[in-house]
Amino acid sequence: MGTLERLLADHSTLLLDVMGVLINKNGAIEHAPQFVDYLNRRDKQYFVLTNICGDTEIGIYDRLLRNGIPLVSPERVISAGSLVQAYMRDHVPKGATVAFIGPQTCRAVLETGSHHIVSCGETELFDVLALLDDEGFPFRETLEAALTIYLRCFRNGGQLPLMLLANSDRAYPRNSDNYAFGSGIFVTMLDEALKKLLGRSPDVLSFGKPSDRMFAEAKRRSGDSSLMMIGDQLATDILGANNFGITSALVLTGLNSRQHITKDASAPNYVIDNLYIARM
Ligand SMILES: [Mg+2]
Repeated sequence: MGTLERLLADHSTLLLDVMGVLINKNGAIEHAPQFVDYLNRRDKQYFVLTNICGDTEIGIYDRLLRNGIPLVSPERVISAGSLVQAYMRDHVPKGATVAFIGPQTCRAVLETGSHHIVSCGETELFDVLALLDDEGFPFRETLEAALTIYLRCFRNGGQLPLMLLANSDRAYPRNSDNYAFGSGIFVTMLDEALKKLLGRSPDVLSFGKPSDRMFAEAKRRSGDSSLMMIGDQLATDILGANNFGITSALVLTGLNSRQHITKDASAPNYVIDNLYIARM
């Protein structure tokens, strides 16, 4: 029995990352469609956990289906964007203005029906700032608009709006040779600037992997504690799973390879080459 088969036998619920595990920008990753089909036929419980914020859970489900990944229902998708929206629904007062940093598609992700959702570059004030994505908006102008609004809010009432951070990654590999700033770096920038200008820092809540919130939501939806995470990124999928106290497996079909593994909190319990299962 291979490592993947043994792990499946030992855990009743599987958590799968999306990008680099099931699909990439070219479509389905080799063996992923057959693997999900295998889970479906065995009635194995699984969820996909993704830090994608520019699309709703139904949109992510549709995208997986279009790419040949036969997910059984949209309820199997847990996205960082939807966790931010759920937090707003439960904790942000009705009628509040929530500004987002990210592409315009984030508006639909955050829509609750009871909040005023605006792009950060298109408002003069906000009560809460949601940092959802690191691209799809004019970087410098948007961050400077956010900083200016923070200063205005402070002058108006002494308050610094709460930040909701969907992905705390500060930098990540875009591919094997190129690196990108993640939206976590925007919090660092705003925080440093506000400390210099006001001597104050805003409160920040993190939602996506490696935050516990995402794994806690998977535990809640599955009603299970025998969970295993399969992901391609050490700093998000693997670190988050390890911190939450569940089994972690790095799959080598995405961003990280064996040479990136270090002996720290992001070291995976298992490494698997791909999602190939011998006896389909
Ligand atoms: Mg990934």
